[in-house]
This record gives sequence, C-alpha cells and structure tokens, in this order.
Amino acid sequence: MTVQTARTLKNFIGGKWTESTSGQTEVVPNPATEKELAYVPLSSTEEVDQAVTAAKEAFKTWKKVPVPRRARILFKYQQLLMDNYDELAEIITLENGKCYNDAYGEVQRGIECVEFAAGAPTLMMGDTLPDIATNIESSMYRYPVGVVGGITPFNFPMMVPCWMFPLAVACGNTFVLKPSERTPMLAERLVELFTEAGLPDGVLNIVHGAHDVVNGLLEHDDVSAISFVGSQPVAEYIYKTAAQHGKRVQALAGAKNHAIVLEDCDMEKTIQGIISGAFGSAGQRCMATSVVVVTEDIADTFLENLKEAADQLVLGDGMDEQVNLGPVIRQSHLDKVHSFIESGQGEGASLYRDGREDTRGMDKGYFLGATVFDQVTTSMDIWKKEIFAPVLSVIRVKDLTEAIDVTNQSDFGNGAVLYSSSGHATRQFREDIEVGMLGVNVNVPAPMAFFPFSGWKNSFYGDLHANGKDGVEFYTRRKMLTSRW
Ligand code: NAD
Repeated sequence: MTVQTARTLKNFIGGKWTESTSGQTEVVPNPATEKELAYVPLSSTEEVDQAVTAAKEAFKTWKKVPVPRRARILFKYQQLLMDNYDELAEIITLENGKCYNDAYGEVQRGIECVEFAAGAPTLMMGDTLPDIATNIESSMYRYPVGVVGGITPFNFPMMVPCWMFPLAVACGNTFVLKPSERTPMLAERLVELFTEAGLPDGVLNIVHGAHDVVNGLLEHDDVSAISFVGSQPVAEYIYKTAAQHGKRVQALAGAKNHAIVLEDCDMEKTIQGIISGAFGSAGQRCMATSVVVVTEDIADTFLENLKEAADQLVLGDGMDEQVNLGPVIRQSHLDKVHSFIESGQGEGASLYRDGREDTRGMDKGYFLGATVFDQVTTSMDIWKKEIFAPVLSVIRVKDLTEAIDVTNQSDFGNGAVLYSSSGHATRQFREDIEVGMLGVNVNVPAPMAFFPFSGWKNSFYGDLHANGKDGVEFYTRRKMLTSRW
C-alpha cells in the first residue's frame, strides 16, 4: 500500500468544497519529476446529481440577473486572473509539464475568453423587424439553455475550460465542469477566483473524476447541453450519447495537422515555425504540427535545417528557463508513443531523428526528444493516427496540388499551415484544403476567442463550434415573439 502524502482534491458543489465520498482516487504526478502533486477523486454519479441539482437551483435566479451585472462579475474575474497570472501558469507547468512560457501563453488565451464573455450584453442581443406585415412586428430574444456540462482534456487545463464556462455563465446558464483527471488542479484556482469576483453559489460547480462523472452528465435529465473537448473516439461517443439523451452537444476532437512547405518559403522562419508547432508543448496540442508535406526539391535542405534546430532543444522540467521541450503527460502515454515509433520503423519510414536517444541518463519524467520520420506515406499508421507527442512525419511531394491532396486524405481536419511567399499558392491552399483552421506562415493558427474554433471532419462533432458567435448560439436558445398592435 502506498502512503498518501499529497492532498486529495475536493469537488465544488453549490458553493462549497466537498470531499468526494466515492472512496476512489487517482494520483496526479508532475510529469517532469514524477513527484506526487495531488490525488484526484473519481467521483460517483450521485455526486454528479448533487452538482446538477445545485446548478439547477442556481439557474432559477442566475438567469434573471441582468446581463450587465453578470458581465461586471466577468470583468472582475478578468482582473483577478490577471493579478494571479504567474501562479496560474506555474500550476499548469506543474501538472501538465508544458514549459512555463507555453503555460504563460495559455493563461493569456484563457483570459481572452473571459474578455470575450464580458461582452455578453452585446452578444445576447436579439433582433427585431417592426413591420413583418401591416401593424405586425416580430422580435427574437435570447435566453440561456439551463445547466451545461463541460468535459475537458489534459492538454489545456486553463484555456479549454475557459472556452466553456465563462461564456456559458455570462449567457445566464449554470455549469458543471469535469476537468481532466490528469490535470485537475488548475480548475480549483479558476473557480476560487470566479467566486471571489462575485459569482453566486451553484453557478459554477466542479465534479472531479473520469467515465462515471462523464456518463452521469450525459445521461442526466437536468443537463441541457454538453461541451466536450478531447480525443476523437471519446468525442464521437459523447456526441452520440448526449444526443441520444436529448441534449445539444459540441464535441471538439483529435487532429493530425499538416504543414505544407513550398520552395518559396522563408526557410529560417519556416524552421522556427515547425519547431514550435511540432515540438512546443511536447506536441500535445490539438493544433500541433504533426506532418510536414514538403516539395521534393527542398526536402533535403529542409530536413537538414530542421535537425540542426531540433538538436538545440533542451529537454527537461518546464519550470527551468533553459528548457524548451517538456515531458508528455504519463508513462502510459510515452509507452504508446514508443510503439508508434516502432510501428513507423516497421512500416518502412526512415527515422531521421530519434528523440529516444535524447533521454539517455534521464531517470525521472516522461520525456521524449524531438523525433522526425522521413519518407512517410499515407498508408502508414504514424500518418493516419494522432500520436500527440513530439513526433513529426515528413512526406515528400512534387507540388502544392499533391500536398493539398495528401492533407485532404486525412480523416481529421483541425488545422493546416502553409509556409510560402506566394499569394497564388495561399489562395489555392485556402480554397482547396478541407480543414477548418488555416495558417499562412503562422505556426499554430489557433483562432482567438471572438472567432469559432472550427475543426472539420473527425476533428469535430456537432454544429456550433466553441467560442465566438457560435459559442453564444450554443449557450442560448431563441424565443420569437410576433405581435399585432
Ligand atoms: P481524452 O479524450 O482522453 O479525455 C478528454 C476527457 O474525456 C477527459 O475529461 C476524460 O476524463 C474523458 N474521457 C476519457 N475517456 C473517456 C471515456 N471512455 N468515456 C467517458 N469519458 C472519457 O483526451 P485527452 O487525452 O485528455 O486530451 C487530448 C486529446 O484532446 C487529443 O486528442 C487532442 O487533439 C484533443 N484536443 C482537441 C482540441 C480541439 O479543439 N479539437 C483541443 C484540445 C485537445
């Protein structure tokens, strides 16, 4: 039996920190040091029910709070998040492993969501046409949908929950968040600061756990909508199950993002972009570059430059300023990534840079150095599947048309980047690529909070995406009034 030294996290239900009664916990290690940071409770469906009941009760009054007053709480929250910036970034690095600079950027992206949500008085406005017929007018009003459940992944413990609950509650909904059990700690600070900003009890609740909590939310009659972000198989399951239970659902899923590199690119900037896109956050971003499609004439030069830059990356604990490549999230994930590397070799790809060699002598942490495969083809598993690690596949093509064709063969359609100085190529890329979020000479083209996060194909299940006007549509329902006077 292991002796538990780290504290066990609590649920937040109806404004109170509540110990889980499930009796089951899971350890949360620092992925860089393997030190135990906390234990996360694997709560039961009864605890989900308690949180939903608290949220349902709070909804009765929260929905009636005038929108500008709700927005003022969001403004205060934004300030408190700014005041606690460093601490938030540090928690992210500790529990997720990403480098402090990346974590700092993530805090910024989360705060931007709160800033967007603070615009609720404008975002919630309806529409009116005074004369749809003689003396008859028609108006559309927006109302919140009720209790919303949010289920989030490990890789963005701040940004992804902030895609959901700030906008949902600004629109007058109440919320039950199930953070990733692998990075559950930051949610505590997010809720504490929101409460300090004046959010009433029961408006935002946290229930920690795994499958049981998720299923409890999906099947609960009093949950009206589900926002999910995570891997593809789980997203598909969430979408189908939530829809079967009569809920509106948005499920953002996995990815396999291609970067197309053409001969007219700025090679130095392209290399910097690919290094950051592929190996930043240890490749554990849904917008990470995982495939480079490069034209044959520059492929050798590109690979030589890439290797030279990858050799400079420093592996280690993300709290160390020198480090720019942190660990992956768990040993079990690292084991899976190692099998992908073996499968790539078995399928005939050429292992151009083997990141496993960078970890020699490291006895703690779940590390892998920058790994690059050349001569990858679309029949290989390392191309088809999301690896979610610092592993990059390179495919050689003759031109842009073939590069777009390769990209479009993927089942995923989250992000794609073009490195080129040609307007014509940019136009062809934009028009023909079947992907929802594009970048031109931008390494990670994640849209800001006022635009939708717009994955296509198996990278998204649902109709309305997260953030922007889509987010407002998702978290509101419309009422039409037609009147004759
Ligand atoms: P995950 O699918 O393993 O977990 C996501 C959430 O689902 C967690 O809260 C987890 O507890 C829950 N969950 C996991 N398995 C479940 C099951 N069988 N039944 C019910 N619930 C379950 O994802 P992850 O590994 O935490 O996150 C990484 C994944 O998320 C990657 O695939 C990445 O591409 C994706 N992601 C996508 C976006 C996007 O915008 N499309 C953004 C961030 C992450």
